[in-house]
Order: sequence, then C-alpha cells, then structure tokens
Amino acid sequence: MKEIYDIAVVPGDGIGPEVSKAAVRVLTEALGSTAVLRFAEYPAGAELFQRTGDSFPAATFEACRSADAILHGAAGLPGVVHPDGTEAGLDFTLGLRSKLDLYANVRPIKLWPGVTSPLRGREVGDIDYVIVRENSEGLYAARGSGVFLRGEVAMDPLVQTRKGIERIVRFAFELARTRGGAPADGRRRVTCCDKANVLRSYALFREIFSEVARGYPDVEAEYALVDAMTLHLVRQPSHYDVIVTENMFGDIISDLGAATVGGMGMAPSAELGDGNGFFQASHGSAPDISGKGIANPYGTVLAGAMMLDWLGRRHGDRRLLDAARRIELAVHDALAQRNALSGDIGGTMGSADITGILCANLAPAASAA
Ligand code: ATP
Repeated sequence: MKEIYDIAVVPGDGIGPEVSKAAVRVLTEALGSTAVLRFAEYPAGAELFQRTGDSFPAATFEACRSADAILHGAAGLPGVVHPDGTEAGLDFTLGLRSKLDLYANVRPIKLWPGVTSPLRGREVGDIDYVIVRENSEGLYAARGSGVFLRGEVAMDPLVQTRKGIERIVRFAFELARTRGGAPADGRRRVTCCDKANVLRSYALFREIFSEVARGYPDVEAEYALVDAMTLHLVRQPSHYDVIVTENMFGDIISDLGAATVGGMGMAPSAELGDGNGFFQASHGSAPDISGKGIANPYGTVLAGAMMLDWLGRRHGDRRLLDAARRIELAVHDALAQRNALSGDIGGTMGSADITGILCANLAPAASAA
C-alpha cells in the first residue's frame, strides 16, 4: 500500500477534457480530504498535433509509464491525419497499448437502473457481463505494416501467438473467479468468441482456450462463433458473464454490447498490462457535442472507479476499493432516481450538474479503511 498514488491525466480532444474533469472531481471527492491521489495533466492527441506537429510527446509517455495509473478523456478529431492518411489522434492510445504492453482490454457491459435498454423487457440486473478483448495482437497488430500492391491488392496479417492467447484467456478465467456469475443462472462462465470454423488463427485461440479452461474446473467454459455471438448478445444477454475474444472481434462486439445498455456514454474501459493500467470511456471525442457541456460523464467516471479497483487490488489498499464501491453506488443512485440523465440516455442534464449530483450522492468513507 502506498500513501499517495500518481495519476497521469491526459484530457485529449473534443469532449475528453469535459469528461476527464468530471471523473477527477468525483474521484477526489470519493477519497475525501486526504490527498490519496495526486493528479497531473499531460498533453497528447489530435489538437496538440495540429498546434505542434507532435501528437504524443516523449514527456507524456514517460509520465504515463511511471505513473501508478493513467486516466484518459478521449482522442481524435476528424480530418487531423498524418501524410499517410492515418489518424493523428490514435497515436496516443495505440502507442501506449503497444509500448506498455496493455494486453487486456476489459469492457464491462452493465445495464444500470433508470437507463432504458433498446432490448424490449430488459431491466436492471439482466445485463451484466464483461468483454475481455485481446489488445496486443490479432488483426489490429498489422496496423502500419501489411502489404499494399499497386492499388490492386492489400493484405493485413492476423497474428495470434500461444503466449498472447494464453495470457488473455487466463486473465478472463481469473476475472470470472472474482465475479458473481451470469445474471440468468448465477454460474461463473467464460465464453470463447472466435471464428474457429474458418481460420487457423482462431482455431489456435480455441485450442489454447480449452487447454487453459481445464485448469479452472470451477468456471464453466463454452464457445460461440462471433457471428452467432452478435445474435446471442441481443437475444439472451443474461446468459453471459465473461467473454474472451480476439482484438478486432472485441472491438466490434463491445460496441454492440454498449448499445444494449444505453450507448457509448455508459461504457467504461480498462486496458491492463502486468505493470500499467490505462482507463477511459469507450467512446470517442464526440466533436459534434464538444464544448457544449452536455457530454455524458458516466463512462469516464465508471472508468475512474475501475482504476481505483485495479489500484486497490494491486496495492492491497482498502481506501481505494471502498472509494470504487462508493462511486458505483453513487452512480446507481443517481441513475435510479432518474434525476441525473444526460441527453444520450433520455435526459436533459449537463455534465457539470450530473457530476455535482454524483459527488453529493457519495456515502462517507468506511472508517476502518
Ligand atoms: P471513435 O472512432 O474515436 O471511437 P466514434 O466516431 O465512434 O469515435 P464518438 O466520438 O464516440 O464516435 O461519437 C459517436 C456518437 O456518440 C456521436 O454522435 C457523439 O455525440 C455520441 N457520444 C459519444 N460519447 C458521448 C458522450 N460521452 N455523451 C454523449 N454523447 C456521446
């Protein structure tokens, strides 16, 4: 346990500064007057690239690498691209992922009270699963490489290694052991989502999944092809507990999952390696609404709670674990009373007012912490 934790905050582009400010305020309030978290802001992103020609300064990387955790707003602005057409806003997030080997992207999909799911009849408690997306290899590892021939042929290799698959599958089973099981039947379950019937790389993923699963007899293991999975997540989301999948599949099904629980504004994300943790909402920089004060801050606030939970477990610090639970409770209460809803989830309230309600909802810290 440390006395003080250094948090590198990268506000980024568009609504990034608004939502990261909201999260920092709630985190600070949740930890009370003692300065348990020391926040420091660092620049990165598309707007910085426009101004300076550098989207990810070396000093920002160094601060992120050495911090106890990294909290991000959002990155990217339309049309701000490198000469080869790739988005400058992606340099920061993709660079951090590979340089810090943040191999596990954890994306909880949870239906909160007061938020209406587009799936008919689904209530709070019916949807509560986690997508564990492999974040270091798969199809996206080919970014910047691949083959492009005379404007006629393009190829991007799909890379999957035993080491990469083993560690992400193990991560998913360990995570399942910390959870209460699937809403439908309370059973701890990890679902392997792949396309093993068509490509060898996914067949290898499935084979290694089966090997690792044998070491976790207390957790049910099952398989789903990704195309069928999109159907299942709409028809029977309550069946799922933890889903583990390749990089691009995880990217796609987590957007589908987020749509079923109120949209991207409600979806937090953690990208974890063995030594570093990077936390943000799943949404982009939403330039269409930036600067208006109407961004939904829940995704980033919940990512902040995930950060406290991760730090608390790593350092055995009950103050942080307690604060994470109290933030989740404050979110639960604000949403349940339907008095703190932003426009994207059917309300009219702005980010600052929602943040104020969340702070007011925070229960006092446990005295034993
Ligand atoms: P990226 O590719 O960078 O993930 P994107 O193109 O998918 O980004 P977003 O920036 O996530 O797009 O925005 C998609 C839509 O969702 C926009 O209409 C945006 O206004 C809305 N949106 C995204 N995040 C929020 C939020 N926090 N609050 C309210 N609306 C949001």
